[in-house]
Amino acid sequence: MSGSDSKKGDGTRVVGAGRRPEWTQGIVNAPVWRASTILYDTVADLRASAGSDTHHRLFYGRRGTPTQWSLAEALTELEPGAEATFLYPSGVAAVSAALLSVLSPGDELLLADSVYDPTRSFATGFLKRFGVITRFYDPMIGADIAELITDKTRAIFMETPGSLTFEVQDVPAIVAAAKARGVVTLLDNTWATPLLFPAIEKGIDLSILACTKYVVGHSDVMLGSVTATAEHWQQLRATSFALGQTASPDDAWLGARGLRTMALRLKQHGEAALEIARWLETRPEVARVLHPALPSCPGHDLFVRDFKGPAGLFSFVLRGGNEAGRAALIDSLELFGIGYSWGGFESLAIPVDPDRIRTVIPWQAEGPAVRLQIGLEDPADLIADLAAGLDRFRAAA
Ligand SMILES: *Cc1c(COP(=O)(O)O)cnc(C)c1O
Repeated sequence: MSGSDSKKGDGTRVVGAGRRPEWTQGIVNAPVWRASTILYDTVADLRASAGSDTHHRLFYGRRGTPTQWSLAEALTELEPGAEATFLYPSGVAAVSAALLSVLSPGDELLLADSVYDPTRSFATGFLKRFGVITRFYDPMIGADIAELITDKTRAIFMETPGSLTFEVQDVPAIVAAAKARGVVTLLDNTWATPLLFPAIEKGIDLSILACTKYVVGHSDVMLGSVTATAEHWQQLRATSFALGQTASPDDAWLGARGLRTMALRLKQHGEAALEIARWLETRPEVARVLHPALPSCPGHDLFVRDFKGPAGLFSFVLRGGNEAGRAALIDSLELFGIGYSWGGFESLAIPVDPDRIRTVIPWQAEGPAVRLQIGLEDPADLIADLAAGLDRFRAAA
């Protein structure tokens, strides 16, 4: 399939990726193959099957069917230089399996202070009990991460831009420091997807996606993935099998269905978000807009250097005001739902309070902050909705 050719455009790649004829059998998108039991003709066949490599071979439902293999291979094809991809029932399951595949008791993990909160909780809760020490670092640390690496440091986890606050990390510099000391690098690449940031090509060992967001794209499926280099794939796969991880064929099928339009959607999400972010910058009620494509966002220069374009999720900080004013802004928005997650076709707005989470760099802001997921509605309508919200915020002050 043409999807494997990384020189082709993004639209072409997402349309073609993973559609092997033996998996699609003439159907355009690989259909749902549901299975737990796979039947063998003879005892000898059953024995031979168990003793051989089951990659891309029907063996038992937990190891997948062509439905999951097709989506996994599609995601691998979008990450030039990657070996393979494992699918998980959620993004958090992908994060935890990736970390468990590289860490052992006694190891040390360096975790960006800006990571997704459940990733943080997994490290400070489960990994701590498992005997792994986590040290948080300033997401803007860049090459100075070298000073934090000790003989016990086994892995560095990045997320760029960071959840809620959108700091862009210097991934090439951190990767170089890690490689110099034999440290494994993991990246939560959910915001950019491999289309805007080809993580493996940039030297990352394990690239993680909450497919729940842009891959699925319709706010109706939980799904995660980890794409690995050849060096890390076998350990990732073995760990994920040991944990009993498997994504349902129905969910994988919906993921593949979403993927086919991801390039188109991402472009629209990004362009609309940028238009709205720029408009917000002109409003007197807004102190700062934290979208990596704007110069006011920490790491904007790195974004310009490393990313292929903007995505549709960002935050803005209000100038002064309080909790009640922020609620007045958000509560009566007509086109923005109030809810967690993002990456779907519809817009969302939530209050964010990084000061409750951060430990390395205290969050300092001129007022309360709001995170927006820009959906596929017309930007002019979203702007009018937000303008009315900012009027309510001003009236509440
Ligand atoms: C949502 C999200 C996750 C977790 O994904 P789920 O599918 O909701 O478990 C992980 N990382 C980031 C950056 C996310 O936004």
